[in-house]
Parts: sequence; C-alpha cells; structure tokens
Amino acid sequence: MQLLDGKSCSEKIRQEIAEKVAEIKSKGDRAPHLAAVLVGNDGASQNYVAFKVKDCDEVGFNSTVIRMEETATEQQLLEKIAELNSDDKIDGFIVQLPLPSHINEDKVTLAIDPKKDVDGFCPENVGNMSLGLPTFLSATPNGIMELFRRYSIETEGKHCVILGRSNIVGTPMSILMSRNTNPGNATVTIAHSRTKDLQKLCLSADILIVAIGKTEFVTADMVKEGAVVIDVGQTRVPDSTRKNGFRNVGDVDFDNVKDKCSYITYVTGGVGPMTRASLLQNTLKAHQRK
Ligand code: NAP
Repeated sequence: MQLLDGKSCSEKIRQEIAEKVAEIKSKGDRAPHLAAVLVGNDGASQNYVAFKVKDCDEVGFNSTVIRMEETATEQQLLEKIAELNSDDKIDGFIVQLPLPSHINEDKVTLAIDPKKDVDGFCPENVGNMSLGLPTFLSATPNGIMELFRRYSIETEGKHCVILGRSNIVGTPMSILMSRNTNPGNATVTIAHSRTKDLQKLCLSADILIVAIGKTEFVTADMVKEGAVVIDVGQTRVPDSTRKNGFRNVGDVDFDNVKDKCSYITYVTGGVGPMTRASLLQNTLKAHQRK
C-alpha cells in the first residue's frame, strides 16, 4: 500500500506557483489576488478561509477576506458579489459554503462572474469542463486528478466508482474521470443514497472515490484487493484530547481498509491540501487570462 501524500504534492504545486508569481512581479505586474467571502461564524468555514489566506501568503498572492454577519441578507451578499465582479484588482473570488439557510446557494453561484469563479462552480465553467474546453475546473476533483497525474496512477479502462453526486465533488469528478484524457478514460459509475447493493458495486471498483460525509462508511469488506481508494470525506467529530476539541474523520475506515489498497489517501494530508492547491492554480489562471 502506498499513501497518496496530498500534503507534499500540494507543497510542490505551491512552489511551482510561487516561481510563476515571482516572474510576474519581476516584470512589474501586480500579483494575483484572491478574495474570499465568509458569511457567519461556522468554525470549519473560518478554518478553511484561514488556510486559503495562508496559502496565498506563501505563494505571493494578494488576498482579501470579506466577513459578513450570520444575519446578512441574500441581497447584501449579492451586492457584495456584484462589487467583486467589477473590481479589476480582484482576479478571482470564492464564497465559502455552506451559507446560512436563509441564503439561496444557487442564486449566489449564478451571481458570480464565470471569469472570476475560481471554485469552478458556475454553470458556464461546469459546462466547459463537460465539453473539455478551457475553464476553471472544480477544485476538489481537479486536486484528485492531479494526485493521479503526479503518482502516475493508471486510470484508463479502470472501473471507477464514485460515492456521492454533489455538484462540487461527485458529479464533476465523474465527468473528469470519464473524459478522453489522461488521467481519465475510466468507466465510471456514480452512486448515491438511493443506490442498491453498494457493497457489491464498491467491490467491483478498481478506483473508489468516496465523498458522502458519513464517517468511516466504507469498510474493508467493500474494497477490492489492490484498489485505489480516495477519501474526500471530512467530518468534524468532538475529541477532548485535541487542543481544538475536534478531529476530522474521513468516509473510509482507513485502519482496516488500507492494507487492501494499492494506493489510498488519509483524511489529513490527503485530498484537502490538493483542493487548496487547485484553488491557487485557478487564481493564477484567472490572473493570466487577463
Ligand atoms: P453532499 O453535498 O452532502 O453530498 C453527499 C452525497 O453523498 C450525496 O450525493 C448523497 O446522496 C450521498 N450519500 C449520502 N449518504 C449516502 C449513503 N449512505 N450511501 C451512498 N451515498 C450517500 O457532500 P459533499 O459536499 O460532496 O461533501 C462530501 C464530503 O466531502 C463531506 O465530508 C465534505 O466535508 C467533504 N469535502 C471535502 C473536501 C476536501 O477538500 N477534502 C471538499 C469538499 C467536500 P443523495 O444525492 O442521494 O442525497
């Protein structure tokens, strides 16, 4: 079994980006600029945004965090998005999800200028991805593709089972894996909460990508010998032994599954850092497109 080390892969990507930023600055141009809108006080969201700012600092990007109260209205958020859309100094921005329940996430996604949608969630960018046209690829699926690429994992002709069909992970992942690209060219099955006999389906997977948000859902009896297992899940569970009072748990029962796998990711240092690296890649692309 080989652990897919998203932490060290993402460090390499950040180094590559930092070199490009140094080159941009040496020509007298301004650095790429990422903005993040954070609505409310969700602890996990605050952490994710703090990491994104740290990543920007490390590669030499400018960053701006716009904090809005939990009680901010949908209209106030849409006005902020309109401002960011027309701000020439901002190359790309994200609105950290989830949003408070009184705000419609679809409306928010649709309001973002596709040219600044570095999360790759807007219909235009998802459509371009489906057609194989230049675009901002959704950060998490693209981070996973980058892991396959950097570890030279063969995906062609393999049966790839994806658990979860969310707009931000499972669905775009299924598109990227089935396209005529390398990595890609897999035969893809996408499963969800209504899928029958998940165990049998998972056992047929050469590559199993799990994004359902259910802790340790995938157990050893669901995994084929030699499979590649990618655990996207990241659920905070209380843990009094930790300074911050919680730990992240994945969707895969890592301890019991790992020995059956050829490659596997762990919840810490796996897919998460690759997602963040993809966001930086997209922001650099947004800057270069100008
Ligand atoms: P989501 O929007 O909550 O969607 C969950 C998906 O899982 C849905 O399609 C759902 O099916 C399916 N599902 C739920 N229970 C299931 C079951 N028992 N059997 C089969 N399918 C089931 O999830 P998401 O936003 O994609 O996130 C999934 C997990 O990934 C979460 O833990 C999240 O924190 C994590 N995540 C991590 C990263 C990262 O960078 N590491 C990025 C994004 C998300 P239905 O459609 O039928 O409801």
